Order: sequence, then structure tokens, then C-alpha cells
Amino acid sequence: MVTKEPYPLYSACILADYIADRIPRQRVFLRTAEDYARAGIELMLARPVLDWSPERHMLYFDDGALRYDRLVIATGSRPLIPPVPGIEKDGFVALKTLRDADLLRMAHGKNAVVVGTGPVGIEAAIALRHRGWSVSVVEMLDRVLPRLFDLPLANTLKNRLEKRGINIFLDEKVLEILGGTRVEGVQTDRRALPADVVVWVIGMRPELTLLNEGQLLLGASGGIAVDRHMQTTQEGVWACGDCVESEDLVSGCTGLFMLWHNARLQGRIAGANAAGAGKRYPGSVNITTINVFDEAAASVGTLASEVSPGERKVLHRRSPWGELYLVLKDTCLMGVQAVGRTERVGGLIGIMLQGKDLRKTLVRASSPADGPGLGILRNVRKDLLHLFG
Ligand SMILES: Cc1cc2nc3c(=O)[nH]c(=O)nc-3n(C[C@H](O)[C@H](O)[C@H](O)COP(=O)(O)OP(=O)(O)OC[C@H]3O[C@@H](n4cnc5c(N)ncnc54)[C@H](O)[C@@H]3O)c2cc1C
Repeated sequence: MVTKEPYPLYSACILADYIADRIPRQRVFLRTAEDYARAGIELMLARPVLDWSPERHMLYFDDGALRYDRLVIATGSRPLIPPVPGIEKDGFVALKTLRDADLLRMAHGKNAVVVGTGPVGIEAAIALRHRGWSVSVVEMLDRVLPRLFDLPLANTLKNRLEKRGINIFLDEKVLEILGGTRVEGVQTDRRALPADVVVWVIGMRPELTLLNEGQLLLGASGGIAVDRHMQTTQEGVWACGDCVESEDLVSGCTGLFMLWHNARLQGRIAGANAAGAGKRYPGSVNITTINVFDEAAASVGTLASEVSPGERKVLHRRSPWGELYLVLKDTCLMGVQAVGRTERVGGLIGIMLQGKDLRKTLVRASSPADGPGLGILRNVRKDLLHLFG
């Protein structure tokens, strides 16, 4: 196993907790070097692969090469960083790795600007606020967490963040990172914000710098195209994780689903198949949970804005346990967004994945709690049936 990381496996998902000082550094690690040795895996750390020859079955380092019989490409993703002036300054951090988290923990100053309000940006903003920084967040779209929540719940979460002292600037584009050798501020198209540190998290792209032109077929979203067995278009080469495209189990659309649980399952399947098994990857599920201070939020499946207006129905309800926003395509449940006791959303995932006609399911169930996942719909059953007409 070859990686350019100097560390064995760690979880990016809890880097924000480490930045916030909620967990010690050693808690981010999921494996030790000894675990690999015990499993009979030779782990080669800090070994960037610079070139690949599929014809020769060779990987090349700056000081050597490695021959393989079968190859699994799991190069993951890298932060999207457009050529904004000033990104080379000290104090500019595109949060992806443990090293980036270390840099944020070591940063001095009082003003932090986070650019981008995806889950990583929001978690970073909360972590820095937790450590006493004055935090501003800049987002070029009209809402926070724009790929996870439609406007109503995004607004609820924005209010929570603002109440806890995070300044949020929406519909605003960063033009330049200001300062000398160190970051001193951020110039947007509306204002200049003071900054001692800039956290840049506007999205990830598949990490494919290893590939030369035409070596592997790529999909429309720029990830490696694989079949259901995670096999690429090269014989003897599998790929998995953030660098591949896969099919969404709910919508059936092919795209990038850069989430830990998808990557882990794909990795298991690619590895098993490279060793001769015939396992199939069922498809990806878009499930994201995030804690916005003491409030949990969850988003599963498709946004209302992604369903065509003619087929779209939405139901937004507040209940004692929080807010629920259901996205339907005709009578099919396509997306669930929730703020509050989000563990209750779990039951709805089964309904979404089965792609059942929700009207029929609700009519058939004598009590909404009859079927798995229907309990949460108890309070909205009437509204849903009314919505279906
Ligand atoms: C800060 C942060 C928080 C996140 N939080 C969540 C979360 O809460 N929930 C969730 O589901 N997902 C989360 N994610 C996404 C999740 O971490 C990824 O989906 C997952 O790590 C993907 O795993 P992967 O192995 O495909 O890629 P990666 O984790 O990117 O690993 C790829 C590895 O390949 C190495 N590599 C790349 N190119 C080369 C090369 N040429 N030579 C050698 N090595 C190379 C890299 O160094 C890296 O170690 C988060 C991501 C980040 C950055």
C-alpha cells in the first residue's frame, strides 16, 4: 500500500474535532503502522507515485519503481483552488489533511475567514469559533450548506450559526487574499474582511494527477469511470473512493459522491475483486450529518432544486423534535432534510431506497407506525396525502 501521506490511516471526518480541541491528536488515527504489519500489508508512507505505466504494470517514484500484477487506484480527492491572487501566502489553508488541521491548530491571531459553506467549511468555522477566533464565512451562493439543504432549512442553520457569533456573508465572491507574505485579509466583491488565517473549502475534485491523457476513461463529472465491480477500463486495474464516479441509489444519476461510507464500501469491493472475488457495488447514498453547535442536521438524497418543477412536491414541517423537509418526485420520496433529532430520519432512508409509491404505502398502513420508517411520518401523514391530492 503506497501513499504520499506520512501517516497511517486517519479520519478526515473528525479533523474539525481535533482543530476545536475536543479530541487529542492520536484520536484521529484509525490504524497504526503495526496494524498493517500484522495484516501482512507492506505500508509505504510518504511515497508519492509520480507516474504510471499501465502497459508495463509499473508505478514510478522519484527514486525508484514498483511492479504490480493488479492495481487499485484510490487517490481520493484534492481541494479545488482557483487561481485567486494571494493563495500562496502563509495562513492560507485548504483543509483536507491532518497536516492542514495541524496548521490551523498552530495558527496565531484572532480573525479567521472561511471560504465556502459545505459541511467541511461549516465544521471548520465552528471549530475555530470554539477556540475563540472571530470567524467570518463567505459563500458565493444564496445559502449555507447549499448542496445539502434547500433554502428553508439552510436559513434555520444560518440563524443558528449567527446566534453563536459566526458572521455569514452570502452571495459574495472572494476576489483576492490580501497581505504581504502572510495573510492579512480577504477582499470580496463587496468588502474587505480582516484575516490572520483563511480556510479555503469550496469543494473537492478527484485526484487524478497520476493519470496521463487517455490512460483511463473518465466520466462526465471528471471522476474515473468504473463498472459495478469497481473495475476501470484498463484490464487488471480497479478504482474506488473519491476519485471515481458511481451511481446514486436514490436518483440513479451517475456522479461524484465523495463521502466516507461510499469510499469505504467501494474500497472493500475493489480490493476483494482485485484479489479474485466477484463483488458488486450496490451504488452510493448521499447521507450527510453535521452538528451545528448543539443542533444536529441531516440531509439524505436529492434537493428540491434538483427535481424538475413539474414533478416536484415539498413538505416542510416543524415538530416538537425539530424541522423536517421532504422532497418528493410525484409520489416518490427523493430527499429528506432534518434539523433536530436527526436519528429519526434513518427510518426514511429505507423508503427512499425502495423507491416505493409513498401515497400507496401511507394509504395501506393502518397506522403510520406500521411500516418501517413510517413512524416519523405520523405527524405529516395527513399533509402528505393532501399534497398527493
Ligand atoms: C475535512 C474533511 C472532513 C470530512 N468529513 C466527512 C464526514 O463527516 N462524513 C463523510 O462521509 N465524509 C467526510 N469527508 C470525506 C471523506 O473523508 C472522503 O470521502 C474519504 O476520505 C475518501 O476516501 P478516499 O480513500 O477515496 O480518499 P482520500 O481520503 O483523499 O485518500 C486518498 C489517499 O491517496 C493518497 N494519494 C493521492 N495521490 C497519490 C499519489 N500520486 N501517490 C501516492 N499517494 C497518493 C493521498 O495522499 C491520500 O492519502 C471529509 C473530508 C474532509 C477533507
